[in-house]
Amino acid sequence: MAMQSHTGVIFHGCHTAEGPSAPLERYEFDIHTHTIASGHGSAATITDMAKAAAARNLKMLGISDHGPATLGGGRVSYFRNLAYAQKERLGVRMLYGAEANIIDRKGHLDLDDSVLGHLDYVIASMHKPAIKPGTEEENTAVYINAMKNPRVAVIGHCDDTRFPVDYFRLFQAAMEHRVLLEINNSSLSPEGYRGDTKFNDLLILNLCCHFNYPVLFSSDSHGTKHVGDFTYAADAARLAGVPRSLILNYSAKAFLSFLDGR
Ligand SMILES: [Zn+2]
Ligand SMILES: [Zn+2]
Repeated sequence: MAMQSHTGVIFHGCHTAEGPSAPLERYEFDIHTHTIASGHGSAATITDMAKAAAARNLKMLGISDHGPATLGGGRVSYFRNLAYAQKERLGVRMLYGAEANIIDRKGHLDLDDSVLGHLDYVIASMHKPAIKPGTEEENTAVYINAMKNPRVAVIGHCDDTRFPVDYFRLFQAAMEHRVLLEINNSSLSPEGYRGDTKFNDLLILNLCCHFNYPVLFSSDSHGTKHVGDFTYAADAARLAGVPRSLILNYSAKAFLSFLDGR
C-alpha cells in the first residue's frame, strides 16, 4: 500500500508475505492505560487494571496516568510513589510510567526529570488546554522538541487532527531519537474525539513499513474496559499491510529490549 501525504511525499507501504495480524488474544502487553489517578470518572485502581490485564491474558501492563497539567491528573507525589509499587500483580508484569503533558513550544513536560527518572517509561502527549494547537510547523516542532528529552519513549496519539503535524518529519525525528509513535485505539474507535484520525494513522503505519521501524498499539483505556483492546489499531495495521514483526505488542520482550536499547 502506498500513500501520498498532503506535502506530496509518497510512502511505499509494506510488501509482506507474513499475512494478516494475529487475533486479540495474542498481544502480550498494553502500556497506555489510566487509573483513578487520571480522574475522568474512572474508579479503577492499579489492582483492578492488573485483574483486567490478567483476564485478557496479557503478560505485561503499563500504567500511564496523566501528568498534573491535566485537570484531575496525577500529582507529583503519586508518580514518586510508583517507584515502590509491586512489579508483578496477579501474574502480570507491571510497568509504571506517565502520560506527561507537553506544556510549551519547547517541548517541556509537566513532570520534571527527578520524577520521570524513577518511571519505567514516559509517553509525551499534547492535550488541550495544557497546550494550544499551533500550525502544522509549530506542532511538529513541539513533538520533536519533546523527543529530545531522553526520558520520552513514546509520543501519544499524534494522530490527533486538532494538532496537525508533518508526519514525514515527525517520523524521521522519532527514528533519530529512538522514540515510538503509537497507534491509539481510542482515537480510532467510533467514540473517539480526536477527529477522523484514520488517514493520519495510515500515514504513520506506512512510514513504519517504509522505514522498517516498529510501531506500538495502545488502548488508552480509561479504566478496565478497553485494556489490551487494539481492535481498530489492528484494522488499520492490516489495511496498511504492517507485518507482525513491526508490531511490538506481540512481544513484551521486544518492547523491553527497545526501552533498554535507548
Ligand atoms: Zn492522552
Ligand atoms: Zn491517555
